[in-house]
Amino acid sequence: MADQAQERSAQGDVKISFDGAAERLGLSQGVRRLFVEPWRELRVALPVRMDDGSMEVFIGYRVQHNAARGPYKGGVRFHPRANQDEVRALAMLMTWKTALADVPFGGAKGGIMVDPHKLSASELNRLTRRYTSSIQHLIGPHRDIPAPDLGSNAQTMAWMMDEYGQANGYTPSVVTGKPIEVGGSLGREAATGRGAMYVLQAAANDLGIELRHCRIVLQGFGNVGSWFARIAHGEGARIVAVADHLGGVYNDRLLDIPALVDYAKEHGSVAGFPGGTPLPPEDLFTIESDILVPAAIENVINESNAGSIKTRLVLEAANQPVTPEADAIFKERGIPVLPDILVNAGGVVVSYFEWTQNLQQYSWGEDRVNDALKERMLRAYDAVASLVKNSDRTFREAAYEIGVERVARAAELRGFVV
Ligand code: GLU
Repeated sequence: MADQAQERSAQGDVKISFDGAAERLGLSQGVRRLFVEPWRELRVALPVRMDDGSMEVFIGYRVQHNAARGPYKGGVRFHPRANQDEVRALAMLMTWKTALADVPFGGAKGGIMVDPHKLSASELNRLTRRYTSSIQHLIGPHRDIPAPDLGSNAQTMAWMMDEYGQANGYTPSVVTGKPIEVGGSLGREAATGRGAMYVLQAAANDLGIELRHCRIVLQGFGNVGSWFARIAHGEGARIVAVADHLGGVYNDRLLDIPALVDYAKEHGSVAGFPGGTPLPPEDLFTIESDILVPAAIENVINESNAGSIKTRLVLEAANQPVTPEADAIFKERGIPVLPDILVNAGGVVVSYFEWTQNLQQYSWGEDRVNDALKERMLRAYDAVASLVKNSDRTFREAAYEIGVERVARAAELRGFVV
């Protein structure tokens, strides 16, 4: 599965969805070409002193895809497979995601090819600073605003803010997803999982699925997966299986999610959790569910398993977990897939709230953040669902169409083709 993930082109996969939307919207060839080309990309070599005195050189990227609707926005991932193709694809995804969520940003993404678990905190601090100083001429509160993604977190953002501030003066609005103590927003850490839950509730309601009685299978227990689990569990949903890259756990009655969160915090994985039967991660998708939630990495649901997965609804909390081939299989089988650019937009929505709070130097209470998040998520869901209704479009096709159309309209209004 890992090999397959490595060989395929992530950008090619986003392009398939984009091309379909462009075709249905009747976009001109020129605009189509503009939207598949990242506007600007930077590759940097990052020499870092390791704790043992040796020097390592890491490779980092920042790709800015499109800024027709506002400054570039998107996370920075720390992952051994964070290559240029993947970062490009994710930057493009951010452009459609910010448009669909209707936040005034464009799309960007960054990445550093590194396994963050293999570095000490001080090595990560130095690597993050080196990356920040290498891309600092491209970022800024009104240029490009990085945030956490896979393998990075609030601490990473605090280091980025500090390093940027050394050269440019105190500028908390240059990154989002910061710790609360240094300008982060209440509700930001939980936002992606919470937003996914809002979308799930609305969709389940429309599709006649009673959430209280259904079985949820979850892949990934990082920030997004664990917060989604906590919120879903709090709402009375029954999560029966969870797996991360090191192991899994299954309990046919329901898993005790608060205990699992504590366990995973202490052990770095759900593997070995005593409140259920151990489950090899590769068997997770064989478990029957009503709702399947991939919340980890790309391409985990593909043509080799999509045909045999028994579920009623797929909720893409991760970016690109379902390949286009698997998408086609689900369409054929009548299983709706709620797409990443809708489901996981809660993170960037609350990033927007954090950015506005920083610019205004005024902070919001958590209820205000969550209410405003809910309103935006439901507005985006409603736009997608009403396009799906009475048409043979999938949720992904509708979501792309709305996102792409908004970006095309902004580009046209700005008239930047000279
Ligand atoms: N990395 C997150 C995403 O993929 C959040 C991006 C942000 O907040 O800018 O949507």
